[in-house]
Amino acid sequence: MIYADNAATTRLDDEALNAMLPYLREQYGNASQLYSFSRSAKNALKDARETIASCINANPEQILFTSCGTESDNWVIKELTLSHSASWNVAVSEIEHHAILNPCKQLEKIGYKVNYIPVDKNGLIDLRYFENINSNLVSVMFANNEIGTIQPIQELCRIAHENGALFHTDAVQAVGHLKIDVQNLDVDFLSASAHKFNGPKGIGFLYAKNPNLLSPFICGGAQEYGLRAGTEDVASVVGMSVALKKNCEEIDANKKHLMMLEDVLLDALKTSEIDFIRNGARDRIPGNISLSFKGCDGEGLLHLLDLNGICVSTGSACDSRNTQVSHVLKAICLDEDYARGTIRISLGKNNTVDEVRKIAEVLVKSVGKMNL
Ligand code: PLP
Repeated sequence: MIYADNAATTRLDDEALNAMLPYLREQYGNASQLYSFSRSAKNALKDARETIASCINANPEQILFTSCGTESDNWVIKELTLSHSASWNVAVSEIEHHAILNPCKQLEKIGYKVNYIPVDKNGLIDLRYFENINSNLVSVMFANNEIGTIQPIQELCRIAHENGALFHTDAVQAVGHLKIDVQNLDVDFLSASAHKFNGPKGIGFLYAKNPNLLSPFICGGAQEYGLRAGTEDVASVVGMSVALKKNCEEIDANKKHLMMLEDVLLDALKTSEIDFIRNGARDRIPGNISLSFKGCDGEGLLHLLDLNGICVSTGSACDSRNTQVSHVLKAICLDEDYARGTIRISLGKNNTVDEVRKIAEVLVKSVGKMNL
């Protein structure tokens, strides 16, 4: 099997798994209890929070553990908005993940106004439109999951602040893959998810510059400063911190490896006769390769690759059962003839040159078969 769908999820890192095991077996104490048996769990939680904070240059009190990226996004978009009157106005890009867009739809149903910010053909925010936005909360994803485009977050955040808005970024595809310094960026909120950077599934975090702005997401006990109740999943938090630290230490080496793999794949495709375009801006998440093959069917290609043991995706994972052209490809106005034949290959640090050569070989054959 060749796994090339790392934007959907990644393999759990061995060191992260080993760091988790003691908290699932021996050190299973509830981190909130006062007796000494729970001390180890409590300390692990504290250390993990500090590690995660240092990876993005935040303070530990600004890191709130959540169950996933979707929860982090919902917390800011929905809960923060619901704690304000209906005059509170939200702006998001047209190419956000459904973890942002669907809460927006819910807000619209109950009378809140949401502005959708258009993007250009490469998926970059249209700055002329952005500069005139009059909103209380702006959310623009750090990097797009389907086409990999990285937004100029620092600049967007500065403009949003000049217009008096709070700024959130869904950095689920970026954390652990790009260098992120929240103080430098000056974002107010940032969402992340462990399973995208070789951590466990079912755990994520929300960075909040000022957590006091948030209302509780889950009400109950005093966990997460009373903002997100529920007994902490210490093992997963520890796994997330180990995976993030490791990925952050290896960011440059991983980027170099992934760019080399991208070149191998694209060179092989270019030397064949097939008609394709690569989507996204010049500045993309390393390893995220969205390709559109003229006159092909993306889902058909996915199945032909699958028959050869290769896992890729059409559009984003959440859209993979939807044969419609995705909202992202529509927003970048991709020609329908190409858009229908789109697949996303997302390479990860564990992929090899041989695997990428095999992907190219099968892809060229499959596209050839489809165009017969
Ligand atoms: N945001 C983006 C950009 C994503 O790519 C994803 C997952 O694909 C999510 C949010 C949701 O993250 P999670 O699966 O952790 O809920």
